[in-house]
Amino acid sequence: MTTSTPAPHATTLDEVLAIIHGAGGPLAAAPVPLAQALGRVLREAVVAPEDQPPFARSGVDGFAVRVDDTATEFQIVDFLRAGDWRPRPLAPGEAVRIGTGAALPADGLQVVMIEDTAMDGERVRVLQRDTVRHVRERGEDARRGQPLLAAPCRLSAGALGLLASLGVVAPSVARLPRVVHVATGNEIVPPEQTPAHGQIRDSNSTLIRAFLAARGVPVAQHRAPEEFAAAAALLRDPAGGAPAADLLLLSGGASVGEHDFTRRLLADLGFEILVSKAASRPGKPLIVARRGAALAFGLPGNPLAHYVCLHLFVQAALDAFAGLPAKSPFHPGVLAAELDNEGAARETLWPAHAAATDGTVALEPLRWISSGDLSSLGRANALIRVPGGAGRLARGTTVPFVSTVPPA
Ligand code: AMP
Ligand code: MG
Repeated sequence: MTTSTPAPHATTLDEVLAIIHGAGGPLAAAPVPLAQALGRVLREAVVAPEDQPPFARSGVDGFAVRVDDTATEFQIVDFLRAGDWRPRPLAPGEAVRIGTGAALPADGLQVVMIEDTAMDGERVRVLQRDTVRHVRERGEDARRGQPLLAAPCRLSAGALGLLASLGVVAPSVARLPRVVHVATGNEIVPPEQTPAHGQIRDSNSTLIRAFLAARGVPVAQHRAPEEFAAAAALLRDPAGGAPAADLLLLSGGASVGEHDFTRRLLADLGFEILVSKAASRPGKPLIVARRGAALAFGLPGNPLAHYVCLHLFVQAALDAFAGLPAKSPFHPGVLAAELDNEGAARETLWPAHAAATDGTVALEPLRWISSGDLSSLGRANALIRVPGGAGRLARGTTVPFVSTVPPA
């Protein structure tokens, strides 16, 4: 009598996300120059090192006069442009011509806009004087020591501009994970090559490289035959251990017939299997494994499954490595057309095109038949989460979705 191995336990989508966040610890932080910091995750909060702005400056082009000086005609005693610094007290009847951004020469001044004056040689007449002082006070934007950026947070262009203004030129950010990807399969050929009958072009390697590049993460990529010794030899480091990677991605070889290939390979490299099978589709034959602080994914070869697993699960791993807290990636949207899930038993991630409409996100479900289909990926920028057992969901139904646009 033969003994059969019990079918591996299927882990729900939420459980997989929690497992990944629990297993993938934050990578160390290190300072990087601002030019390399876009999209990186800040790990040390930033406070204003000095008052912002650091000196009182004019908000307009005009004439600085004493606030307590009610004269209407003034003697022009200096001309200060942005960048000049020539402090001087002003006597009644004296005005300093001043440009936007120039440091005020003394306290107790206001700036009369040039449009409200008439200049005649060395003298200027004030035609109209409003109560607004047109002075950008020292520290009015932020006081020294005031928190300006909390950590962890992803650095946007705006945040980098702020850091530059503060002189924080090397913010402390999470280091990038070292990622190794191996596409396995005897049927795959590089996309440049014309496939023979029965062969297919490797689309997953391009998809993975682009997914990671859009998140600023480089990757070392290889193709290996679906043959244990060859794949293991490729992956082992020269000393015979696991590859020097924080994240190992194996494409293909994850489905039932080939399940043992990826599992054996990961076990051989010293990984502990955390997830053997996901309860969602496409992407059921998912493997998640851990070795120390490193994570490995056995991604089912089907391209749509790849797309789903990358945007949900590998994204969660990247977030965990970056030190971002676990949070649901789902947001509510509204179906722009009927979606027929045909009562599929498993929870489904459905490719969709999301468009912002007045106050809501309209989700257009895209056509797919099997998880090998790529045509929907031309327009997909979202995945709709459809509960298991759902049949037809009417247009206008509110549904959760995850954006596949890189996080900003
Ligand atoms: P597997 O997970 O190896 O059982 O593969 C499942 C399906 O995905 C099969 O139809 C494979 O031909 C296909 N597939 C595997 N790897 C790739 C790849 N790199 N690019 C495109 N399709 C792939
Ligand atoms: Mg295969």
